Amino acid sequence: GGRSAGKRSTGRIDVAEVSVSSPERVIDSQSGLHKIDLARFYCRVADWILPGLDNRPVSLLRAPEGIEGEQFFQKHAGRLAIPDIKHLDQSLDPAHPPLMEIDTQKALVGAVQMGAVEFHTWGATTDRIERPDHLVFDLDPDPELPWQRMLDATAFLLDILDELRLDAFLKTSGGKGMHIVVPLGRFHGWERVKAFAHAVSEFACRRQPDRLTATMGPKNRVGKIFIDYLRNQRGASTVAAYSARARPGLPVSVPIHRDELGQLKAASQWTVGNLGERLDTLNSDPWSGYANRQRITASMWRTIGAK
Ligand code: ATP
Ligand code: MN
Ligand code: MN
Repeated sequence: GGRSAGKRSTGRIDVAEVSVSSPERVIDSQSGLHKIDLARFYCRVADWILPGLDNRPVSLLRAPEGIEGEQFFQKHAGRLAIPDIKHLDQSLDPAHPPLMEIDTQKALVGAVQMGAVEFHTWGATTDRIERPDHLVFDLDPDPELPWQRMLDATAFLLDILDELRLDAFLKTSGGKGMHIVVPLGRFHGWERVKAFAHAVSEFACRRQPDRLTATMGPKNRVGKIFIDYLRNQRGASTVAAYSARARPGLPVSVPIHRDELGQLKAASQWTVGNLGERLDTLNSDPWSGYANRQRITASMWRTIGAK
């Protein structure tokens, strides 16, 4: 042993059997956190993040020089040498190199070794890629709006989903807004699920036209929150629950209990630096009860006035 366990003369440090290079590189000047802190973070949250990555195509946001350096959004492994990473069947995305999947702690930390900060997944699993198993409402605010408006909009969408008798689960994006996730049985194809997400969004906007919009583009969003239903199309991705974000302070996308919504201070409330504290004191999994069995019914379509 040298000065600290696992440290080698090369300056590399082993985490989850991955030899992490440049461990002391500062990757975010706001928090001052190092590459090794991110590797240890993912090692720590592996049991929380892996269920959401398992069996799904994953895209990586890499920032090899730190989050202030160049960033690469990568859907294909290409020449990236990540231990344990799975290359998925070419037929899933025929025009491109193979998609990738991460389903072990070693692959997760291996991705961090290769500069990954964020993990984004498809809304379907690889075994039935044409049948989404959840839909996502990504709430994107006009940055000028007070945070309370985001809380109001989230609660409003949850009320509508209650009215439709759809169970929904909440997470912070780690950025500016909230993500509402509705688990689905794999009954419908992408077009149907996207059309439904769009129709629900339009329904919400008709009820609160001065607060919400379902039309993309910053001009349409002035003073409003955009309900981004476009996460729900084939090939689109959403940041995974418990993924860090390559933004100042290294915030994390974090699942919360519904009754925590009112106390939430910001979408970036939890970070790589402070999430451990939350996980240590959590009484139960905020997403316990998550089950992929819901179906979009004719009666739901009627309720929102579409078909
Ligand atoms: P915020 O709360 O700040 O809106 P967010 O995660 O909802 O955070 P973005 O980080 O802006 O929003 O990402 C939007 C979506 O686009 C993400 O779900 C991500 O999977 C996808 N994405 C991001 N960068 C790229 C890219 N370069 N190419 C393709 N898709 C991307
Ligand atoms: Mn968003
Ligand atoms: Mn968005």
